[in-house]
Amino acid sequence: MVRTRFAPSPTGFLHVGGLRTALYEYLIAKKNGGQFILRFEDTDQKRFVEGGMENILKSLYWAGIIPDEGMFLNEKGVVDQKGDKGPYIQSQKLEIYRKYADELVEKGHAYYCFCTPERLKELREHQQKNKLPTGYDGHCRMIDPTEAKQQIANGHKYVIRMKMPKEGVTTHNDLILGEISFKNELLDDQVIIKSDGFPTYHLAATVDDHVMGINPVIRGDEWLSSTPKHIQLYKYLGWEIPPIGHIPLLLNPDKSKLSKRQGDVAVEDYVKKGYLPEAMVNFVALMGWNPGDERELFTLDDLIKEFDISKINKSGAVFNLEKLDWFNQQYIRKLSDEELAERAMPWLKEADLDSMPKEFLAKAVSLEKERIVTLAELPEATKFIFHVPEYEGKMLIWKKSSVEEARKVLRELAEELDTKSVQAWNRVDLESDIKKWIGERGYQNGSVLWPLRVALSGQEKSPSPFEIAEVLGKEETSARLKSAISRMI
Ligand code: GLU
Repeated sequence: MVRTRFAPSPTGFLHVGGLRTALYEYLIAKKNGGQFILRFEDTDQKRFVEGGMENILKSLYWAGIIPDEGMFLNEKGVVDQKGDKGPYIQSQKLEIYRKYADELVEKGHAYYCFCTPERLKELREHQQKNKLPTGYDGHCRMIDPTEAKQQIANGHKYVIRMKMPKEGVTTHNDLILGEISFKNELLDDQVIIKSDGFPTYHLAATVDDHVMGINPVIRGDEWLSSTPKHIQLYKYLGWEIPPIGHIPLLLNPDKSKLSKRQGDVAVEDYVKKGYLPEAMVNFVALMGWNPGDERELFTLDDLIKEFDISKINKSGAVFNLEKLDWFNQQYIRKLSDEELAERAMPWLKEADLDSMPKEFLAKAVSLEKERIVTLAELPEATKFIFHVPEYEGKMLIWKKSSVEEARKVLRELAEELDTKSVQAWNRVDLESDIKKWIGERGYQNGSVLWPLRVALSGQEKSPSPFEIAEVLGKEETSARLKSAISRMI
């Protein structure tokens, strides 16, 4: 059974890189009829952030990545856990890690270490000064376990370190990156239980991946250097080593590691800005993976069918915001007018437009569907529909025309439009009727359509006057024409 897991630390928000990792893990599980598990790695209590778990889960749910097991949001939107391999929050199972750490000590694969933070600091300074590799020097490795237990009984503070082999190499066959070898002599005797009794990431992740039956283990490649330590732990504990794959990093355009300094990295920032989840999912999926042909548009369901771990790139992927914008535009254009208004509701609400009739909102947003990049732009882009715009009379005058002509044209046009039936009040009929009328009168298109458009929108740039007139309706169009005429007196 394929069982993948996403194992974030609840330190606040979901990073876009984390979203991509979770997505790939989810896709690998779903493609193979497997399960996607979510667990929280909160062994570093200093980094704990209130609400962090909920925040991460909300971002995942927004993207449609719903865990089958482990941590989830219940119907009340509250963080909860389900499954028979829990707890799925590491801080809730300290005694389990402790049991395995004791077993490692028992078997001689781990030892108590009493080195003080001061000694470790001095050691590091000495190594740095002498340009030696930094790391623990094995000072407590030889302490006899009975003596060590005596020291503990006497109240001495300690950590538990694993004994790394000092010779040979550890070879890891990465599912994504291929074969990688690590020289054992360069690997530190890693702490597995800290002085506060909490396990470190290495022990906790290894135990959990085993106990939860994770196969394959997929994670970001910032964890690659941990892999030989984990492999050693699996061996010491007599467990089968699962296949492990590392996803290459997301990079800034200057190829540095994607960081906050160069823009938003939290998924929630993109949610707030009005990016659609389908655009975000499609975008992150293609950062580091491609289907092997030119296709670019993939829904989550398409991705489940198409995703192939062997096509994940081995090198880092550049986070290109313009591409995200492009995806967002594509998905916005696919929405019906009603859906667009519905999806934009949080932003329309913020602009106090949510009490408008739904049909009217749908028509209004349809005017900007082809132009906007994000949903958040809609209130500003459509505001001229909802509020009579403020503008100066001189904006009504087309560049090849005069105030007299503009006034005359608008007066005549207002009269003409008054005779139109409400049935014929749609963009197609309005366009053909008004263009015919222009021809009959011998006007130039610009001298009529420019003032008409400005009269209706109050803006130099806007959708066509026929589209706006349809959305405004006959009465409001007529009122705006009259107001325009009065601005030129
Ligand atoms: N807890 C790690 C993180 O916060 C994940 C490590 C892993 O996936 O093994 O990113």
